[in-house]
Amino acid sequence: MIAKDLQSGVERLGDMIASADIIVPFTGAGISTECGIPDFRSPGGIWTRNRPIPFDEFVASQEARDESWRRRFAMEEVFAAARPGRGHRALAALHRAGKIPAVITQNIDNLHQASGFAADRVIELHGNTTYARCIGCGQVYQLDWVKRRFDQDGAAPDCTGCDEPVKTATISFGQAMPEEEMQRATELSQACDLFIAIGSSLVVWPAAGFPMMAKRSGARLVIINREPTEQDAIADLVIRHDIGETLGPFVGN
Ligand code: NAD
Repeated sequence: MIAKDLQSGVERLGDMIASADIIVPFTGAGISTECGIPDFRSPGGIWTRNRPIPFDEFVASQEARDESWRRRFAMEEVFAAARPGRGHRALAALHRAGKIPAVITQNIDNLHQASGFAADRVIELHGNTTYARCIGCGQVYQLDWVKRRFDQDGAAPDCTGCDEPVKTATISFGQAMPEEEMQRATELSQACDLFIAIGSSLVVWPAAGFPMMAKRSGARLVIINREPTEQDAIADLVIRHDIGETLGPFVGN
């Protein structure tokens, strides 16, 4: 059912939240657009400007690694300045109230952690761009170390331990999904009684399979997105409005 207007959507969502025992939010780039981080697919989104660099290209080519890091450094001011929005804060309030055990996110911006979720309560399906990792041995690097080395050598650095490339701790196209996160997201999707997909175009798989999985396991499904998605037809409630406006009433004090 598509909410006829924002107010009736918020009221219906409030009733569903009140009667649910276990709520699992699933968030995409849309929850962070009001924080100044562009999404991928909206007009003006990141992909309207840059073609994504697949994992095999990153591994094979120094040039691709340099380009990938140049793009990341160009975004640093945006990521560093971003603060949790109304959507993040509403979810954090419901987490504190004991309704949300953990959040499943496709986002890489660390804003759920910044809003008050402990790191182990944020299931990051696509990793995190606020730090880096060696793709060989997994050694963690801070971004300012990568930047210093890049500026010094004019090229993206390799791991000091094993000489493999260092990459933001994100999952690129063509890179394996993180097993433990996929497992935990599966368990939560199957255990919840209310699943809320927020600001995701629901086209990136396998992540986009979770709303469907929750629905099949008996949960009620809510989709909040200002644009239609391919899964609207199976949702119990679709709120086609701005996320901050929709979730703002749930932020509390
Ligand atoms: P997407 O760009 O495909 O979709 C974002 C969706 O959010 C769109 O459908 C858009 O209509 C909606 N939206 C944007 N702002 C909104 C608002 N204020 N209110 C309501 N709806 C809004 O992003 P996705 O589905 O998350 O998937 C693509 C990939 O993007 C993810 O894997 C993620 O890693 C990556 N990504 C993350 C960030 C981030 O961490 N903030 C930013 C860009 C891309």
